[in-house]
Amino acid sequence: MADYAQFYRRSLDERDAFWAEQAELIDWKQPPQQICDYSHPPFARWFVGGTTNLCHNAVDRHLSQRALQPALICVSTETGQERSYTFSELHVEVQRMAAVLRALGVRRGDRVLLYMPMIAEAAFAMLACARIGALHTVVFGGFAASSLASRIDDAEPTVIVSADAGSRGGKVVPYKPLLDEALRIAHHKTAQVLMVERGLAPMSLVPGRDHAWTTLREQHLNAEVACEWVDATHPSYTLYTSGTTGRPKGVQRDTGGYAVALAASMRHIFDAEAGQTLFTAGPPQGEKAAPCPSGAQDAPAPGGGDPRERRSVGVFFCTSDIGWVVGHSYIIYAPLIAGMATILYEGLPTRPDAGVWWSLVEKYRVTHMFSAPTAVRVLKKQDPRYLRRYDLSSLTALFLAGEPLDEPTAHWISDALGVPIVDNYWQTETGWPILTIARGVEKLPTRLGSPGFPMYGYDVRLVDEATGEDLKEPNQKGVLAIEGPLPPGCMQTVWRDDARFVGTYWGSIPGRQIYSTFDWGIRDKDGYYFILGRTDDVINVAGHRLGTREIEECIAQHAGVAEVAVVGVADALKGQVAMAFAVARDATGLDAAARLRLEGEIMKLVDGQLGAVARPARVHIVALLPKTRSGKLLRRALQAVCEGRDPGDLTTMEDPAALEQARALAQG
Ligand code: AMP
Repeated sequence: MADYAQFYRRSLDERDAFWAEQAELIDWKQPPQQICDYSHPPFARWFVGGTTNLCHNAVDRHLSQRALQPALICVSTETGQERSYTFSELHVEVQRMAAVLRALGVRRGDRVLLYMPMIAEAAFAMLACARIGALHTVVFGGFAASSLASRIDDAEPTVIVSADAGSRGGKVVPYKPLLDEALRIAHHKTAQVLMVERGLAPMSLVPGRDHAWTTLREQHLNAEVACEWVDATHPSYTLYTSGTTGRPKGVQRDTGGYAVALAASMRHIFDAEAGQTLFTAGPPQGEKAAPCPSGAQDAPAPGGGDPRERRSVGVFFCTSDIGWVVGHSYIIYAPLIAGMATILYEGLPTRPDAGVWWSLVEKYRVTHMFSAPTAVRVLKKQDPRYLRRYDLSSLTALFLAGEPLDEPTAHWISDALGVPIVDNYWQTETGWPILTIARGVEKLPTRLGSPGFPMYGYDVRLVDEATGEDLKEPNQKGVLAIEGPLPPGCMQTVWRDDARFVGTYWGSIPGRQIYSTFDWGIRDKDGYYFILGRTDDVINVAGHRLGTREIEECIAQHAGVAEVAVVGVADALKGQVAMAFAVARDATGLDAAARLRLEGEIMKLVDGQLGAVARPARVHIVALLPKTRSGKLLRRALQAVCEGRDPGDLTTMEDPAALEQARALAQG
């Protein structure tokens, strides 16, 4: 096993040679002429001159060796269905979807917006876009109509792909009415909508605009759609993420750099590989619907009947959602690029019982699992015997990301599973981990509370917020920043807004152009990094990133609200929850019933505009908000009192009574 420190240094000191080697992990039509063009910082162009295709690398290139190996395993504990697709079947379905998208007018460079639950067709659609050189823009299925509309307006999609409904905890969530409403309020008029009919909710199709997937699929059953070879720098997708303003940012990613980064991460970070088994014979599978989770006769486990074969196949189970970056990278692209089987899971971790994930680990011989601390905290509340019921011997490690991993949670899951628990820190913007342990290079020990070390390619610095200087001593708190160029796979720019990319990410540290993560961090004497929270107004609820300003802007639209502040407050289960403090326009005469009504209306407004993910845990109606004498809202002080902490220096505060009231309400 190599020495990680050396591996890391080489990635920076011999950058081009290092990444040229990584580039060999994927297939190229034309090999790159130049590894990194950084002639216009901070814009990095990776693998210039190379042409490739993400779908080819995820699907087609495995056909010669793994055609009959399971590639995509779809499990829904909401509908009780399990369907497994081999690489060969996936190839067929993706071509059908690609043909349908083409028939609906999608061309290279066009955007296709996906508003979908966790179903196989979502994966087909993402891969089909990649196949024809179109960009997908996945919008999380939990988002409400106006959030969806603002993304439609920014992405200007040629086609939207959606489904009649999602389902959560057994409750059907109809998507079509939300989509219809979004299309009504959006300025951009999307000509074509492709609807997958799951039969969960009735829906009516708008003639001339809406099309049924089953009908169009039938028309393209034998479609052969070749991969479009695109430049390495051709954008593969955009994905919206929250920032400090209400306007979401479309993170734009390239093709070649992303494919290389993911392939390299599977090898060096996740220590994952497809396995040696050659699948050259066996019955075709797929399109089977069977009860789950315990039905052993439904989707066959990777490796078919021979247990020796099963053990040699890599199976990746990432419990995220395709609406988030983790889902893009580690449900869809990375496992498939690596030739592994990937599990797409629709459902809760606790339904039908808290053993469901582990039953899947046993059944499919999952080798690598990827989840979020918040899900583990949910499981921690359940009977630990659920974990011991299943044979988890196939599992090599559990990776957790998206929010800080607290010690009790890490201990609990580590004791329960008996495999390494690996924290990894990254962002929508980077697409793959910035800090973790590169287990495929050197299995360095983990340290509780720390995601680990900077990953190869990331020139990570801790900088002084005021002076912009590097903090070189251990245990100094600074802004976690990355010296350019960002490594392959990271964002190219903000969709159609280069100025925002430069200004927001590269312009916040005084005196230097360096990428800011907007996270505080420290490094201990042994080089382990620790994340200490955001430097901006972004909060993290159950691993989902929300801009408090976005929620404030929404609440401020309520006619009865004069002013509002939203802060993130520590929560044992979700990490953080949003807490809103609203000043009523007409405070006099607002009795308890009227307050309750106003709170309810505000919650509904947020649900309707941003979706339930953004709903504050509480809306407190207050007389005034804590501000400085110059009128600046003291959000950090507000947050501190909500968490029972000392709010710090309040000498510049206008009226201490505001904070007292907030404290009483938050603690009451
Ligand atoms: P997102 O772009 O939604 O993935 O959110 C990224 C943000 O989540 C980061 O900037 C951090 O604030 C937080 N985050 C992600 N992973 C971790 C982690 N392992 N530890 C602490 N914070 C994390």
